[in-house]
Amino acid sequence: MTFRACQWWISLTVEASDLHPNHHHRPRQPDDADRWVGIDRGLSVFAVAATSDGTEVARIDTMPRPLTTRLAGQRRLAKSVSRKQKGSRNRQRAVAKLGRHHHRIANIRRHFAHQVANQLVKTHDRLVIEDLNVTGMLGNRRLARAIGDAGWADFARLLVYKQGWRGGTVTVADRWYPSSKRCSACGAINADLSLADRVFFCGCGFRVDRDRNAAINLALWPTMQQDFSRSPDPRAGGRVTNVRRREGADRHPAGVGETVPVDAGTEVHATLVA
Ligand SMILES: [Zn+2]
Repeated sequence: MTFRACQWWISLTVEASDLHPNHHHRPRQPDDADRWVGIDRGLSVFAVAATSDGTEVARIDTMPRPLTTRLAGQRRLAKSVSRKQKGSRNRQRAVAKLGRHHHRIANIRRHFAHQVANQLVKTHDRLVIEDLNVTGMLGNRRLARAIGDAGWADFARLLVYKQGWRGGTVTVADRWYPSSKRCSACGAINADLSLADRVFFCGCGFRVDRDRNAAINLALWPTMQQDFSRSPDPRAGGRVTNVRRREGADRHPAGVGETVPVDAGTEVHATLVA
């Protein structure tokens, strides 16, 4: 039990049973490349989800902006803390008030992220999200508040584990994949696209909502990766290296030629291989 932000917290560890099979997504055939849903997390809307064929399946723009709307209140509370004499009882009270304020904001944000993530994993078994370098973007002060408010990193974490419960998939697109600047119709890159442009234009004549274009591109990402899969998979290479290293480690004591422990080691190794 801990005391934090003027509240008592009780921690319980429970083992939850698995989700009922009825809530699981139907397993896919290995060659089934259909119905990936890309999720673009925008600034003016919280998230837009679309399939690779260009259908928008969700648009979540009712984002509570607790930090933005309560910012005035937060400034007032912070000022009130700094005005109070250090070590005084009044200052303690003001600090506690500010702590409760932060806590309330965090709760609103968390509740919203859970709702949106639940909605998405319930309705779609294959999701693609972008790998935003959130920490790097937080360095940009102009964007920092909006991004922090949206709680993106936290949201991605919820999606991954909630989808895991349902037997679905969450794929993270490469950080360098230009999901916003790529034309989802012809594949051309619009390098001139700025953050202010809400509509995506392309020389091919394609014109679409900016966030939807990014979501479609994300939905296209897994199939594009499959096209490249003829080249050797670097992850498979990593696995082979690990096995070799393990074999070498096992062989090493045997080579030294010790007695009982070595034999035991060799036996374990043989069992592992079998
Ligand atoms: Zn185009």
